[in-house]
Amino acid sequence: MGIWDLHYLDSQVKKFQKLTLNPGFDDEQREKFRLQAIAAQHHLVEHMAGIEERVKKRERINSLTCPKCGQVGTLQRVMPEKDPGDDFDKEENPILVCGACRWSGLPELL
Ligand SMILES: [Zn+2]
Repeated sequence: MGIWDLHYLDSQVKKFQKLTLNPGFDDEQREKFRLQAIAAQHHLVEHMAGIEERVKKRERINSLTCPKCGQVGTLQRVMPEKDPGDDFDKEENPILVCGACRWSGLPELL
Protein backbone atom coordinates (compact mmCIF):
# COMPACT_ATOMS: atom_id res chain seq x y z
CA MET A 1 0.00 0.00 0.00
CA GLY A 2 1.25 3.41 -0.79
CA ILE A 3 1.01 6.42 -3.03
CA TRP A 4 0.73 4.25 -6.17
CA ASP A 5 -2.40 2.60 -4.85
CA LEU A 6 -3.90 6.07 -4.43
CA HIS A 7 -3.09 6.92 -8.03
CA TYR A 8 -4.55 3.62 -9.17
CA LEU A 9 -7.76 4.03 -7.16
CA ASP A 10 -8.10 7.64 -8.29
CA SER A 11 -7.76 6.58 -11.93
CA GLN A 12 -10.34 3.81 -11.35
CA VAL A 13 -12.83 6.34 -9.92
CA LYS A 14 -12.33 8.66 -12.91
CA LYS A 15 -12.54 5.80 -15.38
CA PHE A 16 -15.85 4.53 -14.01
CA GLN A 17 -17.27 8.03 -13.67
CA LYS A 18 -16.48 8.61 -17.33
CA LEU A 19 -18.06 5.30 -18.32
CA THR A 20 -21.17 6.22 -16.31
CA LEU A 21 -21.64 9.22 -18.60
CA ASN A 22 -20.88 7.31 -21.78
CA PRO A 23 -24.09 7.19 -23.88
CA GLY A 24 -22.71 4.15 -25.71
CA PHE A 25 -23.77 1.95 -22.79
CA ASP A 26 -27.31 1.14 -21.74
CA ASP A 27 -28.79 2.27 -18.41
CA GLU A 28 -28.15 -1.02 -16.66
CA GLN A 29 -24.49 -1.04 -17.63
CA ARG A 30 -24.07 2.62 -16.68
CA GLU A 31 -25.61 1.90 -13.28
CA LYS A 32 -22.99 -0.82 -12.78
CA PHE A 33 -20.26 1.66 -13.66
CA ARG A 34 -21.75 4.18 -11.25
CA LEU A 35 -21.64 1.62 -8.40
CA GLN A 36 -18.07 0.68 -9.33
CA ALA A 37 -17.08 4.36 -9.24
CA ILE A 38 -18.63 4.69 -5.76
CA ALA A 39 -16.90 1.51 -4.57
CA ALA A 40 -13.53 2.73 -5.86
CA GLN A 41 -14.12 6.08 -4.19
CA HIS A 42 -14.83 4.35 -0.86
CA HIS A 43 -11.59 2.40 -1.20
CA LEU A 44 -9.79 5.64 -1.92
CA VAL A 45 -11.21 7.35 1.18
CA GLU A 46 -10.37 4.35 3.39
CA HIS A 47 -6.92 4.15 1.92
CA MET A 48 -6.24 7.82 2.57
CA ALA A 49 -7.50 7.49 6.14
CA GLY A 50 -5.09 4.56 6.62
CA ILE A 51 -2.14 6.58 5.32
CA GLU A 52 -3.07 9.52 7.52
CA GLU A 53 -3.19 7.21 10.54
CA ARG A 54 0.26 5.80 9.76
CA VAL A 55 1.69 9.31 9.31
CA LYS A 56 0.22 10.33 12.68
CA LYS A 57 1.75 7.27 14.35
CA ARG A 58 5.10 8.11 12.81
CA GLU A 59 4.87 11.71 14.01
CA ARG A 60 4.02 10.51 17.51
CA ILE A 61 7.04 8.23 17.53
CA ASN A 62 9.30 10.99 16.24
CA SER A 63 8.40 13.14 19.23
CA LEU A 64 9.12 10.42 21.83
CA THR A 65 12.14 10.52 24.12
CA CYS A 66 14.17 7.36 24.65
CA PRO A 67 13.88 6.39 28.36
CA LYS A 68 17.48 5.14 28.43
CA CYS A 69 19.62 7.64 26.51
CA GLY A 70 17.18 10.57 26.52
CA GLN A 71 17.45 11.28 22.78
CA VAL A 72 14.37 12.41 20.88
CA GLY A 73 13.32 10.86 17.57
CA THR A 74 15.63 7.83 17.76
CA LEU A 75 12.85 5.35 18.56
CA GLN A 76 11.56 3.10 15.81
CA ARG A 77 8.60 0.79 15.66
CA VAL A 78 9.76 -2.79 15.13
CA MET A 79 7.69 -5.91 14.67
CA PRO A 80 8.87 -8.68 17.00
CA GLU A 81 9.85 -11.91 15.28
CA LYS A 82 7.14 -14.50 15.37
CA ASP A 83 7.75 -17.78 17.11
CA PRO A 84 6.91 -20.77 14.93
CA GLY A 85 3.52 -22.11 15.95
CA ASP A 86 2.70 -18.98 17.89
CA ASP A 87 -0.81 -17.98 16.95
CA PHE A 88 -0.83 -14.80 19.04
CA ASP A 89 -0.96 -11.96 16.56
CA LYS A 90 2.09 -9.93 17.44
CA GLU A 91 1.71 -7.73 14.39
CA GLU A 92 -0.71 -5.67 16.40
CA ASN A 93 1.88 -5.32 19.14
CA PRO A 94 5.02 -3.70 17.78
CA ILE A 95 7.87 -2.88 20.13
CA LEU A 96 9.99 0.26 20.14
CA VAL A 97 13.73 0.14 19.59
CA CYS A 98 16.11 3.06 20.06
CA GLY A 99 18.47 3.50 17.10
CA ALA A 100 21.06 5.21 19.32
CA CYS A 101 21.38 2.98 22.40
CA ARG A 102 19.45 -0.16 21.28
CA TRP A 103 16.96 0.16 24.15
CA SER A 104 13.80 -1.76 23.39
CA GLY A 105 10.43 -1.85 25.06
CA LEU A 106 6.70 -1.65 24.63
CA PRO A 107 5.12 1.62 23.46
CA GLU A 108 2.74 1.52 26.46
CA LEU A 109 5.68 1.95 28.84
CA LEU A 110 6.43 5.43 27.55
ZN1 LIG B 1 18.19 5.42 23.44
